[in-house]
Amino acid sequence: MSTTTVDTVDSPAASGPVDAVPDGASAAGKAASRALTEIRRPVAGSVRVACVISALGALAGLAPFLGLVELADVLLADSVDRGRVITICLLIAGGLLARAMLMGSALTITHFADVRLQAILRRRMVERLGRVPLGWFSEQSSGRVRKAAMSDVHDLHQLVAHHSVEMTAAVVMPLGGLSYLLWLDWRLALLALATLPVYAVAYAWMMRGYADQMRRMDESNARISAAVAEFVHGIAVVKTFGQSRRAFAAYRQATDEFVRFFSGWVRPMLRTEALALMAISAPVIGLVTSAGSAWFVERGWVRVPEAVACVLVAMVLPTVIQPLGFGAQARRSASAAALRIHDLLRTPELPVAAAPASPDGHRVEFDDVRFSYDGSTDVLCGVGFACEPGTVTALVGPSGSGKSTLATLLPRFHDVTGGRVRIGGVDVRRIASAELYRLVGFVLQDVQLVYGTVADNVRLGRPDASAGEVERACAAARVHDRILALPRGYDSIVGQDAQLSGGEAQRVSIARALLADAPVLVLDEATAFADPESEAAIQDALSELARGRTVLVIAHRLSTIVGADQIVVLDRGRVAETGTHEHLVGAGGTYARLWAAHQGPDTEKTK
Ligand code: ADP
Repeated sequence: MSTTTVDTVDSPAASGPVDAVPDGASAAGKAASRALTEIRRPVAGSVRVACVISALGALAGLAPFLGLVELADVLLADSVDRGRVITICLLIAGGLLARAMLMGSALTITHFADVRLQAILRRRMVERLGRVPLGWFSEQSSGRVRKAAMSDVHDLHQLVAHHSVEMTAAVVMPLGGLSYLLWLDWRLALLALATLPVYAVAYAWMMRGYADQMRRMDESNARISAAVAEFVHGIAVVKTFGQSRRAFAAYRQATDEFVRFFSGWVRPMLRTEALALMAISAPVIGLVTSAGSAWFVERGWVRVPEAVACVLVAMVLPTVIQPLGFGAQARRSASAAALRIHDLLRTPELPVAAAPASPDGHRVEFDDVRFSYDGSTDVLCGVGFACEPGTVTALVGPSGSGKSTLATLLPRFHDVTGGRVRIGGVDVRRIASAELYRLVGFVLQDVQLVYGTVADNVRLGRPDASAGEVERACAAARVHDRILALPRGYDSIVGQDAQLSGGEAQRVSIARALLADAPVLVLDEATAFADPESEAAIQDALSELARGRTVLVIAHRLSTIVGADQIVVLDRGRVAETGTHEHLVGAGGTYARLWAAHQGPDTEKTK
């Protein structure tokens, strides 16, 4: 027996697990902010260039203000200089044109940057997910991966493509305007800002205790979600036992609580908000600055054109406030999205052997295998047996005894926490993953057909297989006739014009495994879903598949494995017995008891 040890493992994941998010909202906010900076790094340079261009665009946008003041000067003079009027009008038009072009270029740059970033992130995710253990996918909801790859990446769009550029313009333009007023007369700059303190005080009053209230709102929302989930999940039970009114009451209570909390928080805020918005509304600002600057003119502090400039600049100021509010919101949701993407990109990878080795033959050995999902409770404790090439080994045992866990250690859904799993004398951790997947085929209970034609699904393991080979595999898997009966035969799209039953999908996955022709097979016997007439067909297909390979079957129904070359009985993560059916029935141990129990209700299935 080989005593191969695993070489030093060269894993990019050795960089460590996902950053722990420290307690508290602000710490979580900081972690999200850091994640955002890191995620945006590949396009940070382009975004900065775009911001500079946008700032220039905003400054060019001041041309109409300066132009109008000049124009007022010229028009109020005793004799109007037509040439100057035309020059000023051209300058105003030129400024507006330059602004449009600069802003357009800045947004074009950030949109290209955003597309590039989305491609980079999606590529990174695919690369990363291609290297994480397969077991990770069974533990994660596909929703989480889909959310990160689709909506989270999309959530960054607003921030990368719009936020920085629009925010720069929104800040630079009023600042430029105020600087101009300051240059004309400092009193004009102060007058333009006159109503802002009212807004600031009202806003600060509205925002007091905001984090606390948001937390309460999240809690209240979570209670509603929980009540809805409970109601929907348990709907059958709830209805059967006539409890719908009581279950509904929990939902009613959660929503009533939410309404009470929300109106208590928001109602007084609405009055303050109305006051705040009024302080920065165009009529109020127009009135205050016109009256103020008229007084300044009267006092002889400024000239009429300068007073006009003050009114115009003051009217622009509120346009900054709204984008600032939206920008903060966009940044918050983009930060949360960035944190989820960041965490996904740091999912620990399956360690890769520094010096991969090729197995010699297809004998499978489990050598003192230990495994724990959580690092503390062993689900498998010292399991040891071998599966010879050309034989079928059946794993049996009570539910939860570790059968599926043990079988999935072979294609490295997880790595053992102790002992070794070997194929052809080589530890599976030392076999290059591409070679391992070529060697080990698996047909699991939870059949996954991907979006595409039926033929594509069968070809997954061997994309270059000819149509004839695909059909032969399907015929051997007893599903060829069914596929021909589909509207477009092998070209029918799964889920669209190919609606396959559980049993048929299982046979397609058997055809896939047959075509991939892996010498070692893990079969999770899934007769549970199968419709009765396809159950026999599945058994025939499985026998076809098992021929000449090293097969490990997870048996849920003993009748199907009485002919297995070897039966390994697992009990609470340990091998309780090993032998053939006859031998084990004769031994009168766990298997004999399971067999007796199995025979009771279903005798016609026995040999
Ligand atoms: P069997 O296939 O014999 O029913 P399993 O291998 O599915 O048994 O499960 C063995 C034990 O491992 C059970 O106690 C089960 O609860 C636990 N287990 C299975 N999958 C996971 C998982 N993904 N995370 C944590 N525990 C698990």
